[in-house]
Amino acid sequence: MAEASAALSDELYREILLDHYRHPRHRGSLDAPTATAHGHNPLCGDEVDLSLRLSGAELEQVAFTGQGCSISMASASMMAEEVEGRPLSEVRDLIARFRALLVEGRDPSELGDLGDLEALSGVRKYLARVKCAMLPWVALEEGLSRAEGQGV
Ligand code: ZN
Repeated sequence: MAEASAALSDELYREILLDHYRHPRHRGSLDAPTATAHGHNPLCGDEVDLSLRLSGAELEQVAFTGQGCSISMASASMMAEEVEGRPLSEVRDLIARFRALLVEGRDPSELGDLGDLEALSGVRKYLARVKCAMLPWVALEEGLSRAEGQGV
């Protein structure tokens, strides 16, 4: 039974990833971003550019452009969807939980509600793929630090 349900969720995860890869959300760039950030994963050739607009302590708008494998692009799309409109404290918390899921290999059930992001948990067995999935998140962290450094 356990194997059957794992196979089912693998398939569901793959569908979620492919959907974000084929129909990316928040793709583009913002006119007057508070900060931008670039991420590059030389192992795979993935590139991502983020533009962020902050409003007070909220991440008001997020957009990305880039090219790369399905994992990196799906991760960027899912990330943008999850973080837009959230308070910065929640965004930072989500970055930490996503890193715990992928890099530290923590069980999703310990990490609170991750929404569709859980679909990326399957990549954690493969170090190179973890870098693909983390790429936009590392860029987001960098962009937030930059924005906050400007005293926004
Ligand atoms: Zn990649």
